[in-house]
Amino acid sequence: MREVRVRFAPSPTGALHIGGVRTALYNYLLARKHNGTMILRIEDTDQGRYVPGAEDYILRSLSWAGIKIDEGVGVGGPHAPYRQSERKPLYRQYAQKLVDEGNAYYAFDTESELESMRKATPNAQYDGTIRVKMNNSFTLSAEEVAQKLSSGDKYVIRLKVPGNEEVRIQDLIRGEVIVNSSQVDDKVLMKSDGMPTYHLANVVDDYLMKISHVIRGEEWLPSAPLHVLLYKYLGWEKDMPQFAHLPLLLKPDGNGKLSKRDADKMGFPIFPLNWTDPASGELAKGFRENGYLPEAMINFLAFLGWNPGTEQEIFSMDQLIDAFTLERIGKAGARFDIQKAQWFNQQYIRTKADEELTVYLFDSLQKENIECTLEKAHKIITVMKERVTFPQDFWEQGKFFFIAPTAFDEQIVAKKWNDDAVRVLSAYKNEIKLINPLTATAAKDLLEKVTASLGIKTGQILQMLRMSITGGASGPDLMMTMEILGNPEVEKRIGYALETLKVKIA
Ligand code: GLU
Repeated sequence: MREVRVRFAPSPTGALHIGGVRTALYNYLLARKHNGTMILRIEDTDQGRYVPGAEDYILRSLSWAGIKIDEGVGVGGPHAPYRQSERKPLYRQYAQKLVDEGNAYYAFDTESELESMRKATPNAQYDGTIRVKMNNSFTLSAEEVAQKLSSGDKYVIRLKVPGNEEVRIQDLIRGEVIVNSSQVDDKVLMKSDGMPTYHLANVVDDYLMKISHVIRGEEWLPSAPLHVLLYKYLGWEKDMPQFAHLPLLLKPDGNGKLSKRDADKMGFPIFPLNWTDPASGELAKGFRENGYLPEAMINFLAFLGWNPGTEQEIFSMDQLIDAFTLERIGKAGARFDIQKAQWFNQQYIRTKADEELTVYLFDSLQKENIECTLEKAHKIITVMKERVTFPQDFWEQGKFFFIAPTAFDEQIVAKKWNDDAVRVLSAYKNEIKLINPLTATAAKDLLEKVTASLGIKTGQILQMLRMSITGGASGPDLMMTMEILGNPEVEKRIGYALETLKVKIA
């Protein structure tokens, strides 16, 4: 097998979309699996769409996701530079070769001429039928062309796409895709500013960088016939990379392509990290800032279009590298099920060491100016670890460990706060102060003793005890919660509830 050399080739036109992270991931997995090379190439030939900060964002996102670059921007390598704008002088010769051999041509049409052509022929594409009506080296004489070139007239170089020819693309995911060349227009290869377009630069660089596999989103499939023609005309057919066009990411309901608008509407992130749009100043919150762990995001993304063919769902990066094959990528669009992403996050939080989470909680408490011992933070982690989806939940769902409730859910009170509850809680409050230290087992034994002596079922008043202590109707293990709070606090909270809710049964 040919040495595996893959590239992730984003354009720095804004924040890296989560779909781009998946593309990078699949490239990376293939590279690692075959001891190949993962290349990062920045495709910045479209100066009009360049967004400052986007390249840096791409680098930071990949690094957070754990996708390591072997060669490319930020790393260097034998084919440097890896930023296409810095390779500008290199592309010209290939365009020239195409022109010299009759596979490409100069086109001098002005913007307004193109405009009138489009008006005259709606949906027109610049192809064999239009070519003959425009200002280019087909319609102008050799002298006219030479004269225009020497007088510095603006021009572009277009590929001369043959009419009615079958172009075959061997796609590793889709099989053979056959496109009639009449559907392909004479794409611009060199722009009037001397910059190559994406198509030319992409093919030239893939060839020069010895890329073995082009793994990219399905939206690039329509460009593939053009690329195949370019390989043919440049005489590089035998070095042509293998293509793999990845399935689209669909909205959670499966209806249509996932967009940032959908994600915003449904309240989930679409970018790996926070991104502030430099033009509008608008902040889009990232997966990281929403509390997703990079391992969870990677595991989730790996399954968007690929599956291992087994029941196993939890895969570390190394396990993914081991299991990954392009053959197991499906053709069908992959539903972006954000709940599944949350499930993965939950699973990964559970695998985190208590110590790491304890430090995390400890730091968040410090930010809130809340005092807490490491020992207490650790106990909170233990009791809540199985319940949280995001690290911030430890604080957000565990506030009651630090702040006594001041209000109680009216509806539950109306339903469950009764004489029995008052009798049990009053007795429990009086006796609990005698237990020192208050362990979860002691708290439970005492509760059972009190309810038994009053002839009331524990189950009947448990929710009211929880509510007195946490303010809510559900939460982590109640006896452990009381142990963490300690008996003076438990006594105080029950006292407050009894006092506040006294009138309810009067
Ligand atoms: N620059 C293209 C992009 O932004 C790369 C497409 C490809 O991988 O060929 O996605």
